[in-house]
Amino acid sequence: MPIYEYVCDDCGQRYERIVMNQRTKVTCPKCDSGKHTVQLSVFAAPSNGSKASNRSSSGPSGGGGCCGGACGCH
Ligand SMILES: [Zn+2]
Repeated sequence: MPIYEYVCDDCGQRYERIVMNQRTKVTCPKCDSGKHTVQLSVFAAPSNGSKASNRSSSGPSGGGGCCGGACGCH
């Protein structure tokens, strides 16, 4: 769900609201003013989860390899 960040035009208070629809009336929690500037929410940015999945799939191969102890490469 979208979370919007607002900055009050009257007192400068910053606050965040979950807005279900555009008609939701948002007022400042500090001065109850309806005038505000909508900021881009940082929580809306997509988190990059591809690195975690890539890391687990292409990590160092456990066991096997040349130095497993059976090849005598030391
Ligand atoms: Zn305010």
